Amino acid sequence: MKKIGIIICGRYQDCGGGKCFRAIRERVGGFSQYPVDEQVEVVGYSYCGGCPGGNIEYVPEEMKKSGAEVIHLATGLVVGYPPCPWIRQFKEFIETQYGLPVVIGTHPIPLKYYETHNKLSFWKKINMEEIASDLMKEDKKTMGAYN
Ligand code: SF4
Repeated sequence: MKKIGIIICGRYQDCGGGKCFRAIRERVGGFSQYPVDEQVEVVGYSYCGGCPGGNIEYVPEEMKKSGAEVIHLATGLVVGYPPCPWIRQFKEFIETQYGLPVVIGTHPIPLKYYETHNKLSFWKKINMEEIASDLMKEDKKTMGAYN
């Protein structure tokens, strides 16, 4: 059993979470690291609080109290327009302050977003391969299924 918390981007705070929960079931995207025979329980689901992400300071603590062992920063932080400029800082802060590993990514990047972002010079400079490798190595067919 792996207990996780999910933090989404405030720009998508009304999101119902359908793609994230589907990706947990299908073990794709940021959840591909969990074996299919290991149960994954979402013990917390919240958003960053809106720019510049004030809730990042507090919500991981509640998730940790609820048993979270890993925090996932949602894929919306990676492929929003623009992507979240504080992804690296959020990851470092949560890992340092709360001692919880942070995975960048939840559901696969929808293919139409991936194709657009790949044309954007500022996105390439962020080096998403380094910080969101599970998302970036996803096969295109799976990305297409999340359009
Ligand atoms: S861009 Fe970053 S700080 Fe701004 S709402 Fe999204 S996750 Fe939060």
